[in-house]
Amino acid sequence: MTGKLERLKEILGEVADLNRAGAVLAWDQETFMPPGGVENRADQLTTLERISHSRFASDEVGVLLDAADGDVAQLPFDSDDASLVRVTRRDYEQARKLPLDLVGEIARAGTIARPVWQKAREEANFSLFAPYLERNVELNRRVADALGYKKRPYDALLDRTEPGLSTDQLEEIFTELKQAIVPLVADVARNADAVDDSVLHRGFDPDVQVRYALELVTKLGYDIERGRQDLSTHPFTIPFGPGDVRITTRVSREFFNECLFGSIHEAGHAMYYQGVGKSLDRTPLWDGASPGVHESQSRLWENMVGRSAAFWRHFYPSLRRAFPEALKGVDEEQFFRAVNKSYPSLIRVEADEVTYNLHILMRFELENEMLEGSLKVRDLPEAWNARVKEYLGIEVPNDSVGVLQDIHWSWVDFAVFPGYTLGNLIGAQLMEKIRGEMPDLDGQIERGEFGPLLKWLQGRVYQHGRKFTPNELMERATGKPVSAEPWIAYVREKFGALYGAKAGR
Ligand code: ZN
Repeated sequence: MTGKLERLKEILGEVADLNRAGAVLAWDQETFMPPGGVENRADQLTTLERISHSRFASDEVGVLLDAADGDVAQLPFDSDDASLVRVTRRDYEQARKLPLDLVGEIARAGTIARPVWQKAREEANFSLFAPYLERNVELNRRVADALGYKKRPYDALLDRTEPGLSTDQLEEIFTELKQAIVPLVADVARNADAVDDSVLHRGFDPDVQVRYALELVTKLGYDIERGRQDLSTHPFTIPFGPGDVRITTRVSREFFNECLFGSIHEAGHAMYYQGVGKSLDRTPLWDGASPGVHESQSRLWENMVGRSAAFWRHFYPSLRRAFPEALKGVDEEQFFRAVNKSYPSLIRVEADEVTYNLHILMRFELENEMLEGSLKVRDLPEAWNARVKEYLGIEVPNDSVGVLQDIHWSWVDFAVFPGYTLGNLIGAQLMEKIRGEMPDLDGQIERGEFGPLLKWLQGRVYQHGRKFTPNELMERATGKPVSAEPWIAYVREKFGALYGAKAGR
C-alpha cells in the first residue's frame, strides 16, 4: 500500500469515528435522554455532522482518491482496497454536490422534527407536525436538485440509498407485487376464520417478554458481548463499530408480537453488522450493502425463520414455560398459526407478510407525489387515508395510527421505505438459494441449530459489507439480480397452506 492510500484510510477512519460518536448521541436521544436535552443534542449532532462532512468532502480526499485509483487499478474488483476506492468515490462525489449549509440544515431539521413528530403522534394531531414535514420535503427537493437527476427527483435520492435502481424500475416491481398480492389478500380475507390469533392478546408480562426476547435472539447468533438491548418508542439497530452493535425493542402487554418479533427483526440487522469483515472497519465499507439488503436480513430472521413452523417446534416449549397462564391450552401449531395471521391492518410495523408491501407501496407513491409537488403536505392525511382504503380496504380512525405512525418522515431522508419491500424480495431470493444448498434447514431450525444458516449469510452477504450494490451482491450470492418471483412463490405457498386456499393463483 502506498502512502496515499494509507493517508486516505486515516481520514476515512476519523470520519467513521465522528459518525459513530454521533450515533452514540442519537442512541442516547432515543433511549435515555430527558426531553429537555433536545436543543443541546441538536447542536451537538449538527456540529459533529458538519465536521464529519467537511472532513470527508475535502479537496484532500479528492486528491488522495485520484492518487489511489492508480494503486488499485490492478487489484480484483472485490478486493478490499479496490472496493474501498470505488465506493468511497461514489460517496465522495455525492457529498461534494451537497453544500455544507444544506448538510447542517438537514441534521438540525431532523433532530428538531423528531420530538414534534412524537408529540403529534401521541396527540393524533397532524397539524403540529405539518410545518416540519413541509420543511423536510423542501430539504429533500434541495438534495435531489443538488445531486442532479435525469428523469425524476426521486432517482437522485434512490441512488443514494439503493444504488443501481431507478424509480421506474421500482414502479415495475411494485406493479408486479400488487398484481400478485391483491388477489391473495382477497383469498385470505375470504378464509379469515382459518387462523385465530386471540392468544396473542391474552396479556403477557412485559418484563418477561423483554427478557425472553433477548435470550432468544442471543440463541439465533446476536452476540451480546458486542451488543445490548434497550427500550425505545420505535425499535432500531445502531452500530458504533464491530465491538458494539445495539438494538432496541418495545413491548406491549396486550399484543405479543411487538416485542419478540421486533427484537428478532432488529437482531437480524445487528447480526449483519456484527458479521461485516473486520478488515473493513473504520471505512465507508463497514456497513450493509443498502437499506434494502439490510432489511432483507431483519425480515429473513423475523419472518422466514421466526415465523416458520420449525422455529416454533423448537421455541414453543420454552415460551410456554415463560408464560404458562397466557398460553394455557394452546399448542405449538395453534401458536405458529396465530403469529402468521394475515389481515389488513393500519400499522406497517405490525403488518403481516402478505399485506406489508402494500404499506410500502403507498409510502413510495406519497413520497414521490410530495417531492414532485402534486401532493401538498397539508393534504397528506386525506391522501393517506384514501390510499389505505383503496389498498387495504380499511378506514383510518385517526392520524396517530395513520400518517403519523412512522418515525421516518421526521428524519429528512426520503427513499428509505422502498428498502423494506426490496428487503422482503431479497430475503426470499436468498432463502430460495439457501434451501437449495441446505436441504436440512428446517431440521436444523427445529433442533435450534442456527449456526449453519448464520454462517452461510455471513459468507455470502455480511462479510462483504458495502462492497457491492444490491444487484451485484445478489448476482454473486444467487446468480440473479433482485427479482420479485421468489417472494411471490414463498407467500403463495405459505399462506395458501395456512388459509387452505389456492391463495392468489
Ligand atoms: Zn428494519
